[in-house]
Amino acid sequence: MTPHQLLRDGHIEAVPLAEIARLYGTPTYVYSRAALLANYSAWRAALASHPDALICYAVKANGNLALLDLFARAGAGFDIVSGGELARVLAAGGDPAKVVFSGVGKREEEMEAALAAGILCFNVESADELFTLSALAKKLGRRAPVSLRVNPDIDAGTHPYIATGLASAKFGVPVAEALELYRWASQEPSLRIVGIDCHIGSQLLDPAPAAEAAKRLLALADRLTAEGIPIEHLDLGGGLGICYRDEAAPTVADYLAPILAAVSARKLRLIFEPGRSLVGNAGLLLTRVLRLKHGPVKHFAIVDAAMNDLARPALYDAWHEIVKVVSSEAPSEAHRYEIVGPVCETGDFLGHDRLLALAKGDLLAILSAGAYGMSMSSNYNARPRAAEVLVDGHTHRLIRRRETFADLIAAETGLS
Ligand SMILES: *Cc1c(COP(=O)(O)O)cnc(C)c1O
Repeated sequence: MTPHQLLRDGHIEAVPLAEIARLYGTPTYVYSRAALLANYSAWRAALASHPDALICYAVKANGNLALLDLFARAGAGFDIVSGGELARVLAAGGDPAKVVFSGVGKREEEMEAALAAGILCFNVESADELFTLSALAKKLGRRAPVSLRVNPDIDAGTHPYIATGLASAKFGVPVAEALELYRWASQEPSLRIVGIDCHIGSQLLDPAPAAEAAKRLLALADRLTAEGIPIEHLDLGGGLGICYRDEAAPTVADYLAPILAAVSARKLRLIFEPGRSLVGNAGLLLTRVLRLKHGPVKHFAIVDAAMNDLARPALYDAWHEIVKVVSSEAPSEAHRYEIVGPVCETGDFLGHDRLLALAKGDLLAILSAGAYGMSMSSNYNARPRAAEVLVDGHTHRLIRRRETFADLIAAETGLS
């Protein structure tokens, strides 16, 4: 799916964005139910040869309850990285038996909640985490299902902030250490070894590094099996990239083909943890031009969305397509605009150097904003978080109301 596919003639599915702006205001995240389900179906279809494969949606990409509910009903499991995400999945009606728990800094209370919920697997990222989990499970009289997140030391060729599979990263354990830890875990009655996992990075556009990681994990799985430590599942993480601008993102089938070939006839259940590829191009951020400002060097379009709503441009210098949704009546001259928000930071931009004919009040759509948009948003500059709307055919539903000023201070206590 490409960025522009979501938006046809100012509509998402059959709903005009102008109507959404009128009803719910701006800035507002808008998602398409059909696009979300189409993305999930593409994963399911690409895994048709492995009917027991589990697609664990990475909640951190976008944790809105309505999206989690939609994916849960479609049969998805979930990849969580915190107790808060577990609470979200459970609140949305997700099945804990399909949840894998990743992350380098799980707290004991988070482990306890996950044990109580009966999750599928802890994706353990260090020796200390394994020892802590084992002791906790023993104390609680439970057996913790574990997988070790192996760091395969592979350069995924992505942005340094989202490359996670290099030896220098904080994630996972090296293959040699994993072998030792599996041997130790196999002797622990409070642990049950169920899998082996990795996640080498995000926004991957080349299938080769992921396939190479799969091979390294399979070699370890084979070695463990030979030592009498059987592995039930192989979890290859998420990371499949999407098209933001003109990137040739592989299809799910093309991305999976070399991985499935490497797995061949092994009796391993496959798990994947896609986030961005399920939601990224199924959502956009709707914003309105507050005013135009023609400076001595640059033209600025100041819009009502900002870096607190969509952090990716400021954080990774990421590109999002920005298109005018509704042309205003008055014809306007095109300029190369800096599309910026109201936040007091020069880094508060949503796009640089965009050739657009704009007028005050125009509605703009910032495309490919379904993943790591709302979920990374903040209240910086005391800005209430945006609303979220899910479109389904001719209907639209508010799935998160816009925050109020009262929400901003609700958790605080003054001194008097
Ligand atoms: C972030 C993350 C994912 C999802 O990554 P995408 O690039 O959004 O597919 C999956 N697994 C783990 C462990 C993650 O940290």
